[in-house]
Amino acid sequence: MNFEFTEEQLMIKQAARDFAVRELLPDVLERDASSRFPARQMKMLAELGFFGMCVDPKYDGGGMDNISYVLALEEFAKIDASAAVVLAVHNSLACYGIEHYANEEQKQRFLPALARGEKIGAFLLSEPEAGSDATSQKTTAEDKGDYYLINGTKNWITSADNAGTYIVIAQTDREKKHKGINAFILDRHSPGISLGPHEDKMGMRSSDTHSVMFTDVKVPKENRIGEDGFGFSFAMKLLDGGRIGIAAQAIGIAGGAFDLALKYSKERKAFGTEICNHQAIAFKLAEMAVKLENGRNLVLKSAWLKDNGLPYGLQSAMAKQYCADSAMEITTEAVQIHGGYGYVKEYHVERLMREAKVTQIYEGTSEIQKIVISRTILKD
Ligand SMILES: Cc1cc2nc3c(=O)[nH]c(=O)nc-3n(C[C@H](O)[C@H](O)[C@H](O)COP(=O)(O)OP(=O)(O)OC[C@H]3O[C@@H](n4cnc5c(N)ncnc54)[C@H](O)[C@@H]3O)c2cc1C
Repeated sequence: MNFEFTEEQLMIKQAARDFAVRELLPDVLERDASSRFPARQMKMLAELGFFGMCVDPKYDGGGMDNISYVLALEEFAKIDASAAVVLAVHNSLACYGIEHYANEEQKQRFLPALARGEKIGAFLLSEPEAGSDATSQKTTAEDKGDYYLINGTKNWITSADNAGTYIVIAQTDREKKHKGINAFILDRHSPGISLGPHEDKMGMRSSDTHSVMFTDVKVPKENRIGEDGFGFSFAMKLLDGGRIGIAAQAIGIAGGAFDLALKYSKERKAFGTEICNHQAIAFKLAEMAVKLENGRNLVLKSAWLKDNGLPYGLQSAMAKQYCADSAMEITTEAVQIHGGYGYVKEYHVERLMREAKVTQIYEGTSEIQKIVISRTILKD
């Protein structure tokens, strides 16, 4: 076994760290307050190659491994989890989905613009009545011969407005249940697509989240990914990998809160000494550090399995559940260590706590991860 990072992995981590501190930190509080999308920063991240990081260079990607990817996501999330989720959906779902499951013609048509970051990718699975139970798709993709007609509503779509390319999941044959579901690649500006209002969220406020309505949207047959009926299996395969990114994001948020709490505990005095000298605070920090180390190891192991072509569904569910739940605990303790100062925006930890919450919800709730984990271990 080798727990060392390569020079390249460390360089990417450092580049992400430098960018986050230099470009994301200065206006992160303002963007959180106003729910403003980090458009300028996204353009810069595209130029730096953080879009399509793991895509093959022959499609204009960076050809990096998943270890580098999770290290970068963690660094972005420490400072600005909204920016991190845009990158996570784009890289793990849109780029990975097209590169690994689309045909060559589709890859040539859609992947280079995504990998260069000229277009942002979005993934449209959830619906008003289909979240955890993603098999209950109400959006329909009616087979009309040489095209499909899409009708329905998708909910909670990250980057819905700023994306250029959508991957849409819809039901073609209801009788076949989940085997009658398809996945399509669509231009976000296709006629018949409209958006609901920007969701006024608890956290991740500068990532744009909307409902997306489809009214008689025509999609050419050549935009369907895989064989007829592959859509549900495709979505589940993508989420297995996507969860590694969300786990990295969660551990980044937690790490950001931990760093702030550690620093604060060495500066703030109570009862004549720095608060870190009170065992109650020191033990909180110790417990936070253990959770961070465990979470990071789960993320890295999942990424390593993926890089080595080994099954990673079980480990990515473990990583997602553990990192998300730990992020909620760690950020809550970071607020506690800050006392009253933790409760105001200026100290960042309350924002990190709000951001941690959604990591327990999206790309499969913590309860759903436990279903995935228990079913897998019970099967073996
Ligand atoms: C900010 C944000 C961004 C998002 N981005 C996207 C996106 O880009 N694309 C996309 O497709 N979706 C996105 N989502 C949707 C997200 O994936 C869903 O919200 C999530 O899967 C949960 O679905 P739901 O909200 O319908 O909750 P429900 O499925 O209704 O769950 C409600 C509660 O019941 C629990 N529950 C449900 N079933 C079970 C069960 N069998 N056993 C035990 N407990 C259960 C859940 O864990 C949860 O606690 C996003 C959500 C948010 C909040």
